[in-house]
Amino acid sequence: MEGAAIPVGLRWPTQPSRDAPGQLALFDAPERVVGRGEYRELQFVHVEARRIINRLPAPTPPAFRFTVNAYRGCSHACTYCFARPTHEYLGLDPARDFDRVIVVKVNAVDALRAELAPKRWAGASVAMGTNTDPYQPAEGKYRLTQGLVRVLTEARNPFSILTKSTLVLRDLELLIEATRRTSVECAMSVGTLDDEVWRLTEPGTPRPVQRLEAVARLNEAGVACNVLVAPVLPGLSDSPAQLEAVARAALDAGAPSVSSVLLHLRPGVREHYLGSLAEHRPDLVAHHERLYAHGAYAAGAERSRVTRLVADLVARHRTPTGAGISRRPGRFGPVT
Ligand code: SF4
Repeated sequence: MEGAAIPVGLRWPTQPSRDAPGQLALFDAPERVVGRGEYRELQFVHVEARRIINRLPAPTPPAFRFTVNAYRGCSHACTYCFARPTHEYLGLDPARDFDRVIVVKVNAVDALRAELAPKRWAGASVAMGTNTDPYQPAEGKYRLTQGLVRVLTEARNPFSILTKSTLVLRDLELLIEATRRTSVECAMSVGTLDDEVWRLTEPGTPRPVQRLEAVARLNEAGVACNVLVAPVLPGLSDSPAQLEAVARAALDAGAPSVSSVLLHLRPGVREHYLGSLAEHRPDLVAHHERLYAHGAYAAGAERSRVTRLVADLVARHRTPTGAGISRRPGRFGPVT
């Protein structure tokens, strides 16, 4: 039952210990809460984050040097999710637990307000969506991203949001207000319009056409929302016809920028993704082993091919005004 605290033993220490001398504690006072209703498949681990703004070292580009992630784990459950190993650090299973045991930094909004205090903070842009989706289903319950956006807006601090969720539209009015006060960059990740590939690889996300409808609504409201065609999945969503379909639809939604990223398979993620392929598309396993023979990144020639192809498609289909092709309702087909 929701609200019943269940003891949880996160591996991460809440206090420095002899086992981990000098180890900085990230969280205090974890407790586990079982969801109900639309969240009945999920468990939430409530934690108090010691810090909410993470600083990433160079050569991280300036736009992503400061990040905020109110959640850890993501029930969007993408088979390729590069954040899965972050659950392993906590003693949780990066496969099944990542999709259904969501760490919730319940003090995220208050912590951000404190860390943005003028004496402590120089006003750099803050990126959300770098390690987990800020509008994943848990956000419907906790509204932490909404609170973070409000705090950043009040502080007139630039920020960016990357998501795969239509839940971002819940905060449309707030985002419109934010764009009046500061620099806001939104991006929607839509790797494919192919429903079969979507069901197989991103089972917890809104359908791609719904995401593109959200992109259109954001852009029509004056909140610029780019589209990231990512990840492009070798053998599943990388054909010229598939990429042309998604590039055209992104432009049609008014995306000011459309770019792509080929699948990246870091250790820990690789095993999970190839395991899923072995189960559902065993014909593609050997292809991946060749393509990723030298590490987490696909062979350079293949990365260049996909980047160039998407860039060429965008250039070919972009209208002279630089935005979408049409703005009529229902342009992406039926939305379920
Ligand atoms: S939406 Fe992003 S964070 Fe969530 S599972 Fe998918 S790739 Fe991971």
